[in-house]
Parts: sequence; C-alpha cells; structure tokens
Amino acid sequence: MPSFKKLKKSWTDTSQPKRKHDKFYSSRGWRRLRDQITLRDAYLCQICKRNGVITKIHPGSGDYAVDHIKPKRFFPDLYKDADNLETTCKTCHAIKSAKEQKYKNINQWYADNT
Ligand SMILES: [Zn+2]
Repeated sequence: MPSFKKLKKSWTDTSQPKRKHDKFYSSRGWRRLRDQITLRDAYLCQICKRNGVITKIHPGSGDYAVDHIKPKRFFPDLYKDADNLETTCKTCHAIKSAKEQKYKNINQWYADNT
C-alpha cells in the first residue's frame, strides 16, 4: 500500500507539464516573443492578409493571438520558433484552432496541410 506522501508526489508529477506550459505563456519571454511577432507582421492578421483582407490587431487588447502555424501539439520543438509564429485576429485563430482539434495525429495534419 503506497503511503499518502508517495501518492501525492505522483499526482504532482503528472500535473507538472501543463503547469510548466501555462507558466511559459505568462512569462516575460513569451510576451517579448509575441510582441516581436506582432511588430514583424505589422499588426495585421496574416491569415486575413493571405485572403486579401486587412485586419489590424491592437497589441495589449484581446483581439488577437500569436498563432503556432504548425500546431504545437504535433510540433512541440517549434513552439518558440519565430518562423512558426504569426499574428492572427481572434476570429481566424478560433477557426484554425477548431480545425486543428479534429486532427487525431500528425499524419492527419500532414494530409490536410502539405
Ligand atoms: Zn484574421
């Protein structure tokens, strides 16, 4: 019978990756990177832009997201790679995220995106 202490430790350990992840998104490092990306993209939604639409985002507001072009779920090594990040408006980001939820594995992503 494992002691309570042991049980508690294993519970803490399994919750570790998510907490680490959340911490990164509230970190100064991510904020700096995110600001670099929005500046590079001239505060325009890049998905709208590819569709010929100009949608300006407002830094510091909640109307945009810096998106991982290749989803971090399947490409965890690219999550801090500027080439894999782009500015998106909230609408485009929501549509893209919903689409990505459907992929059960990386092969499905490749089939649809390459
Ligand atoms: Zn957009």
